Amino acid sequence: MEIVVCIKQVPDVPTVRMDRERMTIIREGVESVINPLDYVAMEAALELRQKVGGQVRVITMGPPQSEVALREALAVGADRAILLTDPAFAGADTLATSHVLARAIERLDPFPDMVLCGMQTTDSDTGHIGPQIAEELGLPQVCGVNEIHVEGKDLVVKRLSDGFLDTIRVALPTLLTVTKGLCPVRDLPLGALEAAFSTKDVLRWSIDDLDLRKDEVGFEGSATRVRRLRIPLPRGNGEVVEGSPETLVNHLLRRLEALSILDEEDGKE
Ligand SMILES: Cc1cc2nc3c(=O)[nH]c(=O)nc-3n(C[C@H](O)[C@H](O)[C@H](O)COP(=O)(O)OP(=O)(O)OC[C@H]3O[C@@H](n4cnc5c(N)ncnc54)[C@H](O)[C@@H]3O)c2cc1C
Repeated sequence: MEIVVCIKQVPDVPTVRMDRERMTIIREGVESVINPLDYVAMEAALELRQKVGGQVRVITMGPPQSEVALREALAVGADRAILLTDPAFAGADTLATSHVLARAIERLDPFPDMVLCGMQTTDSDTGHIGPQIAEELGLPQVCGVNEIHVEGKDLVVKRLSDGFLDTIRVALPTLLTVTKGLCPVRDLPLGALEAAFSTKDVLRWSIDDLDLRKDEVGFEGSATRVRRLRIPLPRGNGEVVEGSPETLVNHLLRRLEALSILDEEDGKE
């Protein structure tokens, strides 16, 4: 089975600090790690390769230093790594990011049977990328998967949704986004990282390699603009009210009137 895993390098959450004036993440001096759910996706891919054979390719779009994340993926056991990097990709929103990733996946030979993504990242956390790649490539998609079984030319996957366990049969090729419960992640073998740096190659693709235009990628190709960022106000303490249903309703109505959510007239029978 040909599997592609999309991985993203994110700031290591415990070391993240905010520039409160500019309302941006301070990236200088902050350690970067592979997004935790992308380790799960990689592990699932490696386990599937072990069961049914094939190849695991990892891909990331990011600045040149994201190569470190790909080297780590090679050290864990991926067969090939592709870095999509170009100054034109900077400032991308999720639409522009998934467009570049989809274009790169489309160019892979052979085309993958399965594309795996994490369900969301620990930094931007939108959960957009997987579904948008699937949409661009015209692939069926299942999000939030926590079990994968290969059955002939299909997959049978399970996911928790609103407290129910869905079992879904999906035809290949397909895109899945995965959750934490899918499988435990293996430790990096001793010395493997060093070997991945000295003996393995990372392929680099730029905007020209992907035949993309500047207005399709990065800031120019982004459909969203950040107008304002603010830290949410801390939530006040809750209020516990006791009494008969009538007392509680009257109390609630008075509070809603005080907040101008309800007119005095609305509360009258
Ligand atoms: C207007 C705007 C401007 C932005 N400008 C910048 C900027 O200048 N610099 C910047 O760093 N970010 C910027 N971002 C954030 C950037 O768009 C997101 O980090 C990126 O699109 C991924 O979104 P996400 O982290 O929410 O991914 P999610 O959808 O939560 O990620 C789910 C999964 O998709 C895959 N995935 C996500 N991103 C990648 C990737 N890059 N490569 C491979 N696989 C991936 C992984 O498997 C991941 O687990 C901007 C966002 C907006 C809205």
